[in-house]
Amino acid sequence: MIRLESYVSGRWFAGAGRPAVLVNPSNEEPVAEASSEGVDFGAALDFARQSGAALRALTFGERATLLKAMAKVLHQAREELLDLAQVNGGNTRGDAKFDVDGAIGTLSAYAVTAEQLAGRLGDRKFLLDGDFIQLARNPRFVGQHIYTTRPGVAVHVNAFNFPAWGTYEKVAVSFLAGVPVITKPATATALVTYRSVQLLVESGCLPAGALSLVCGSTGDLLSRLQPQDHLAFTGSNTTGAALRGTAGFAERGVRVTVEADSLNAAVCGPDVGVGSEVWSTLLRNVVQDMTQKTGQKCTAVRRVFVPSDKLADFEESLVDALSGVVVGDPRTDGVTMGPVSTANQLRDARSGIAALAQGNRVVVGGAEAIDGKNAPAGKGYYVRPTVIAGANASTHDLEVFGPCVSLVPYDGSAAGAAADIGRGQGSLVSSFYSDDRAWIGDVVAGAAPWLGRMLVCGSKVADMATPPGMVLPSMVHGGPGRAGGGEELGGERGLLFYMQRTAVAGDRVVLGKVFGTGE
Ligand code: NAP
Repeated sequence: MIRLESYVSGRWFAGAGRPAVLVNPSNEEPVAEASSEGVDFGAALDFARQSGAALRALTFGERATLLKAMAKVLHQAREELLDLAQVNGGNTRGDAKFDVDGAIGTLSAYAVTAEQLAGRLGDRKFLLDGDFIQLARNPRFVGQHIYTTRPGVAVHVNAFNFPAWGTYEKVAVSFLAGVPVITKPATATALVTYRSVQLLVESGCLPAGALSLVCGSTGDLLSRLQPQDHLAFTGSNTTGAALRGTAGFAERGVRVTVEADSLNAAVCGPDVGVGSEVWSTLLRNVVQDMTQKTGQKCTAVRRVFVPSDKLADFEESLVDALSGVVVGDPRTDGVTMGPVSTANQLRDARSGIAALAQGNRVVVGGAEAIDGKNAPAGKGYYVRPTVIAGANASTHDLEVFGPCVSLVPYDGSAAGAAADIGRGQGSLVSSFYSDDRAWIGDVVAGAAPWLGRMLVCGSKVADMATPPGMVLPSMVHGGPGRAGGGEELGGERGLLFYMQRTAVAGDRVVLGKVFGTGE
């Protein structure tokens, strides 16, 4: 069995003690083991911090070259990584591509952002925020806001569902900002991350110390973070809240960003005709979010709001669309949805479905155990695609991280839709289907404060709109409230978490020379 090692202080380290065992969720067979016991996290941090100087010394043009090289290494190993995602994540090939290609695509997209910065800034490594602000009667005395790279380390703690994309969407942004990374994948699905880091290290494309990997527990790593360090966390709201409270974080002002769970919604506008192109797009997006990665996407639709008079039609269309889903071992021909990734996820998904069903109607699926196609009887973490009609207190409060949605009627008004969105207490994304501009204007204004991202899908873009579950490197990812209040990606915006904004006041001529603004 493969023993996943950590890569710290520029070398591989096999942890001691009793390891965690990683399994294939399709049949529960062990595939690897991991332990970080004995890793010297103090030394790992020192090494990464010192090495950060080399990363910060790179121009944006050189950072573009680095990100491109990383994307190339992962692309060359794509087939191997897709296979590992199937074995350790229970992914269908399509699910695995979504993760692995997402990682490669995000690295490539950030290489382009780096080239654009290089084109604009030349060898300059800091960013300007706005223009000179005149601060005295005499125009010679001005202020300028600048962003400089913080000379610390970024610790990235990631969720189990995207071992490739989740790792490299964060690494790409950190590297572009010039900040070295210690990345920690969720232990249960760490195989893809481990192999990808191994490939990058072997390729020699990484500056020494730029990327470290922890397979297993973080030990005392987090409590050692200093004022210039960062923690970027993705995972459950509960863990996120606990990590914010890490000893010393508040006193030292360690920067923390949290991407947590979310009760994303899809809203059918009152004008959408049954069977229209927009209706079909809504239906397609809901089915995709339920089944892609077996519903284990932080951005997946959990609640579907449909005007009362169209709810029966939507329910019928959804049941019909889900009837073709085949649940089983994803390496089997014809299987379209794999298991959830871990035994804990299976337990939580089944109890969550039971909670959503309380007092409501189970349209299809349910919480009962099932066997997967071509899986040994009673083995594997399989869940049925489930549709619940109706809402209870859990509908707006419990994220069931699996192939399950609640269909909820609403009165068709923008105010009603926005209020329902807000009952989720802050979400990563929601999608709105309509061509009614007045309704769209009102729903955007009412719902936006509760959301990190919105998809507004009408008939002119129905055939081209990216699905709401897809996070794009050029658009921000994160959400308010229970979604963690964090923000990642968004092109250059993502860099700002790793940089310090400083207001500099002085002589317009001197600052103009220093900042290269030509004044
Ligand atoms: P989780 O149980 O909160 O774990 C997330 C990560 O935190 C894992 O790497 C885990 O490591 C680590 N962790 C747990 N306790 C820790 C501690 N005390 N100290 C340091 N690290 C600790 O979440 P999950 O089950 O992996 O992921 C599912 C959740 O993530 C869902 O709620 C989903 O909505 C959310 N999610 C959000 C986003 C987003 O972008 N907003 C994306 C994906 C997933 P171990 O595995 O070693 O325990």
